Amino acid sequence: MNFNLTNFSTAATNQDETHVKVLILGTGPAGLSAALYAARAELEPVVLAGMEHGGQVSLTYAVENYPGFPEGVGGTKLVELFQKQAERFGATLEYDTATEVDLSNRPFRVRTYNKIYLADTLIISTGATPRHLDIPGEKELTGRGVSYCATCDGWFFKDKDVFVVGGGDSAVEEGLFLTRFARSVTIVHRRDELRAGAVLQKRAMENPKIHFLWNMVLTKINGTEAVKSVQARNIQTGEESQLPIDGVFIFIGHTPNTEIFDGKLEMEEGGYLVTDKLMRTSVPGVFAAGEAADPHYRQVVTSAGMGAAAAIQANHFLDEVAEEEVKDELEAAHS
Ligand SMILES: Cc1cc2nc3c(=O)[nH]c(=O)nc-3n(C[C@H](O)[C@H](O)[C@H](O)COP(=O)(O)OP(=O)(O)OC[C@H]3O[C@@H](n4cnc5c(N)ncnc54)[C@H](O)[C@@H]3O)c2cc1C
Repeated sequence: MNFNLTNFSTAATNQDETHVKVLILGTGPAGLSAALYAARAELEPVVLAGMEHGGQVSLTYAVENYPGFPEGVGGTKLVELFQKQAERFGATLEYDTATEVDLSNRPFRVRTYNKIYLADTLIISTGATPRHLDIPGEKELTGRGVSYCATCDGWFFKDKDVFVVGGGDSAVEEGLFLTRFARSVTIVHRRDELRAGAVLQKRAMENPKIHFLWNMVLTKINGTEAVKSVQARNIQTGEESQLPIDGVFIFIGHTPNTEIFDGKLEMEEGGYLVTDKLMRTSVPGVFAAGEAADPHYRQVVTSAGMGAAAAIQANHFLDEVAEEEVKDELEAAHS
């Protein structure tokens, strides 16, 4: 496979350049765990937060499946703890976003809004972004009744009726969370059964506030200042109906945040970065961890584990490069 690794051009020369041993993109569970391990290896990593410090987990009210917290832990609290631990050992967090990369030579050049980093190794932990339905009204009414985050917006739907679109873990989990506020939560799913895990399904089925609309897809969201109703189609009968509703929460999957690596690193269909078991991408010295490279597990614990592994491998890589350099110098001295 051919990759375009060409240098980026132009205005770069006017920006500050900072040389780092390890640059980590993203402060989700993968990025902050990589930062902890790289910091403890005394590599003084710099971690860029991107547009969403803490990543997806910071949007969730409670995490009940991260080991070490038998009573569960708030998503933002968990991120705060990850960050504190990484900073304690010397990681530096910057509120900046990578906008362009040149992976053709080492050190890799990573341009951000504020500067250019020259990175001996790069760990990509840019995570994923919730997928949209792409139907009329969705974009216009986002923040006015259309939401991708129950934790952020659930409170606004106190005693109201809401739809949750999707049938996986996130949809059911967030639907259950919304029952704390909403009068009713209707899960709209294109199939006639949920994909969510058995425990979550049971909880949803037993919750009197949760209802289901099976074999249905939304085709339009109506309203001007706020969501008033949706148009929905039964995919078995083709029948269209207009249903009054106050809010629509959409949980239908994610797209990996890997656009800036397009053509520069090997990717799977859908944009997930390809890595081997050692978290190595197709360019030596570039590692990837978490949901940017993981369409399968998509959990805090697995993302954190991948981040730790990527940092360990980045450390090995730097050791190997240093050994090679010493060897080359010795050979040159004896020739
Ligand atoms: C609503 C919800 C509830 C969830 N609940 C749970 C749960 O209870 N338990 C569980 O295990 N999992 C849960 N998950 C899944 C879990 O949050 C994710 O698996 C995990 O956050 C993925 O971690 P990550 O570090 O790979 O990426 P993310 O968390 O997506 O973080 C990506 C990071 O990369 C940054 N970034 C992106 N692009 C750039 C760039 N160009 N330059 C620099 N930085 C960049 C972002 O700003 C962000 O900081 C939930 C997810 C959601 C959406």
